[in-house]
Amino acid sequence: MNKIEHIGIAVKNIQESNKLFSALFNKKPYKQEEVKSEHVITSFFETGESKIELLQATDPESAIAKFIEKKGEGIHHIAFDVTNIKEELERLEKEGFTIITKEPKKGADNKLVAFLHPKSTNGVLIELCQEIRG
Ligand code: ZN
Repeated sequence: MNKIEHIGIAVKNIQESNKLFSALFNKKPYKQEEVKSEHVITSFFETGESKIELLQATDPESAIAKFIEKKGEGIHHIAFDVTNIKEELERLEKEGFTIITKEPKKGADNKLVAFLHPKSTNGVLIELCQEIRG
C-alpha cells in the first residue's frame, strides 16, 4: 500500500459541510460528484499529499445514512492508494482480512475501489483505491 489517499467523513448536509471545510482549509473543494451506485454525493478537498472526502447520503438505505444513524457524523473510512488493487485484494484475503468488495468497482474521483470489513481491521473501514488511467 502506498500513501493515505484520502479520509472519508460522513456528513448530513454536504453544502453546509463544504462551507465549514472550505473555511477550515481556506480553499474550496476541487470537485463534487454523485456516485449513484453508492447513493452518495461526495466532495473532495486537497490537503497536501492526501485528500478529505465528504460523503452525504442521497438515500436513507445507503451505507452513509446508516452510519450516521448509528454513530453520527464523523470519520467513516480511511483510503489507501494501491498500485494494483486486484493483487492487493488477493494478498489481503490470504492474510485473512474480510473483503467486502471482491470485485473492485468504480468509485468517486476516477478510482477503482474496494473495501475491507471493519470487523477484520480493528473497527476501521478501509478502502483501497487505484487510479483509473487512460
Ligand atoms: Zn473514499
